[in-house]
Amino acid sequence: MSKEGIKTASDCIFCHKCRDNCSFLGKYGIHIGDIDRLRELAYHCFLCGRCTSVCPIGIDGRQEIIDIRRSIASSDEGAKVVKRYKGLLSEKRDYRFRNYRNSNGKAAFFPGCNLPSLYPKTTARLVSILSERGIGTIYDCCGKPIGELGFKDDEERIIADLRKRLSEHGVEELVVACPNCRDFLGDRLGIKIVGIYEKLHELGIGDAIDDDILLYVPCPDRALRVWVDEIRLFARGRIELADDVQCCGLGGSAMAEEPEIAESFASALGELTRDKKLVCYCASCTGRIKRSGYPEVSHILTWILGTHESPDTSKSYINRVLTRFK
Ligand code: SF4
Ligand code: SF4
Repeated sequence: MSKEGIKTASDCIFCHKCRDNCSFLGKYGIHIGDIDRLRELAYHCFLCGRCTSVCPIGIDGRQEIIDIRRSIASSDEGAKVVKRYKGLLSEKRDYRFRNYRNSNGKAAFFPGCNLPSLYPKTTARLVSILSERGIGTIYDCCGKPIGELGFKDDEERIIADLRKRLSEHGVEELVVACPNCRDFLGDRLGIKIVGIYEKLHELGIGDAIDDDILLYVPCPDRALRVWVDEIRLFARGRIELADDVQCCGLGGSAMAEEPEIAESFASALGELTRDKKLVCYCASCTGRIKRSGYPEVSHILTWILGTHESPDTSKSYINRVLTRFK
């Protein structure tokens, strides 16, 4: 146990709960307490947090694995990680498509990387209607993908630079559309962070959703369901939550190591669409589900804004590049 009384992997009582609730741990027959083996497999973890939620003695398995990744990334083995994730690092270590030209007031819309990539029309609509109300737009990356690879120094630099840029542009309130951005940024920017649904509701923008929906809850919102509560502001029908599937498959950049497990997640989600309307509020999740061949998933924003846009998986990178020039 750590000095602060926080339970760590070395306190594991091998009750098997994490192993029995995780496809990755189950595949290798290991637990969060199997520290040496976990070090070998740290980049196979989807960082979904289910192990944390089921542990009866309060070990934060997700954080344990991030700590292992940090230790690997800062060691001689870090070069291998850099090589393995070269593309992601080259785009996001110092985000290549950053653009602050449209920031024009105390509040700014922060769509993140994946909403503009997969939903360019919906993003443009949001940018336009928020601009009419004096809210500019900032295209930048929160840094979560880099942080989750274990590059802690880069993570801290990204957050510090983000704080500095926002301060230079006089931004005091950031309106976020991605559950990953909100989860990762937390209160680290020292300014108010507001979810897009709460902001749209406050501004009186958006259509009510009359249909009953099956709402896929992305990993970062599983514990608190903050976004679910905010989406309820627009719901007139029944909301059934889909949070049994462990992850969409993109979490922790583990798909490269565990493509079959990632596919099993997507296929389990695809099954849910058979007789229900599956909707989600994470652009990355919807893109992942569609790429897996299960197209019947919608982003809830496309309903609220009436764009009814499908994830543009074929041009997602180009769409992201274009944000640099907006
Ligand atoms: S964070 Fe998710 S994928 Fe990783 S060990 Fe825990 S339950 Fe398994
Ligand atoms: S759930 Fe907790 S105590 Fe049980 S095996 Fe996993 S880490 Fe150990």
